Amino acid sequence: MIKKIGVLTSGGDAPGMNAAVAGVVRAAHAKGIEVYGVRDGYLGLINGWFEKLDIDFAQNIMNRGGTALGSARLPEFKEVSVREKAVKNLKDFGIEALVVCGGDGSYMGAQRLTEMGINCIGLPGTIDNDIVSSDYTIGFDTALNTIVESIDKVRDTMQSHNRCGVIEVMGNQCGDLALYAAIATGAEVFSNSESKLSEDEIVEQVTKLKKAGKRSVIVIVSENIYDSAALAKKIEAGSGYVTRATVLAHTQRGGIPTAMDRHLAVTTATYAVEQLAEGKGGLYVGLDGTDLIARDIESTLNMPRKDQSNKIKTFRLLNSQFGK
Ligand code: ADP
Repeated sequence: MIKKIGVLTSGGDAPGMNAAVAGVVRAAHAKGIEVYGVRDGYLGLINGWFEKLDIDFAQNIMNRGGTALGSARLPEFKEVSVREKAVKNLKDFGIEALVVCGGDGSYMGAQRLTEMGINCIGLPGTIDNDIVSSDYTIGFDTALNTIVESIDKVRDTMQSHNRCGVIEVMGNQCGDLALYAAIATGAEVFSNSESKLSEDEIVEQVTKLKKAGKRSVIVIVSENIYDSAALAKKIEAGSGYVTRATVLAHTQRGGIPTAMDRHLAVTTATYAVEQLAEGKGGLYVGLDGTDLIARDIESTLNMPRKDQSNKIKTFRLLNSQFGK
């Protein structure tokens, strides 16, 4: 039976990562396993930044945004000589296994460490919901709630002044934040990586809404597709609506994690500790529907994403009275 495990958060921070760390600490302590927190992800592994975590630490971070352990990106971790340093530090400290909360990149690091003798389990921590092996990720619900709250506020003023608001949200390669927010806020137009509109198509759709007498319009776009300020000007020139762009940017990454994110974090973390206690590694823990699952990291990294077309169809149906 293992006696000491480590936990780290890696890649982009996400609300709920702290609850995941807290879940690891509580589940491990329940099984008589000591937990060491690693500062700043893989960077802390190669520098030996380890500290023992207790139940009070877990309780204090449970409901906090960001990640108390810190996160970092360390491209050099792809090199075996760099990872050897990490393995040596872990072994010197007597840490036998590791829980890694992060995205696909962090999972790759976890897989490589497992191959080098340190059993690792990945937890899906990212606001983007872009881990194909889990239906929902830790941080997605909180970010989505932040977005919805912001869009509701923008809608109030757009509706008061007969305007159009362009809202740029995160989710680079995965458009779930944009699509879910569009359905949840009643936005009239959205464009993401899976359902991309040209600028002219957006202008055309907004113009139709203007002609149909719509008092306000919300256009949600994923980051890195358009220049949102330029798009707003184009919409204004084409449709006649006074149009304002709001880029939500890093507001989406912070904040107190929602109950759903905390629940997902604590349950996946507990499941991960159970897998490590059974001597397993090279796995990620995720959600398949409402079920917790543990699958091989290696076999799932190239899994196709679940089809989102039903949700896109729902959005289109809801807006079909305007001729889309
Ligand atoms: P995310 O985990 O959110 O996908 P990144 O892609 O930036 O974020 O990955 C986080 C970290 O994981 C990287 O900075 C690097 O240290 C490590 N990593 C990424 N890919 C690999 C890989 N192929 N092998 C080993 N470590 C990796």
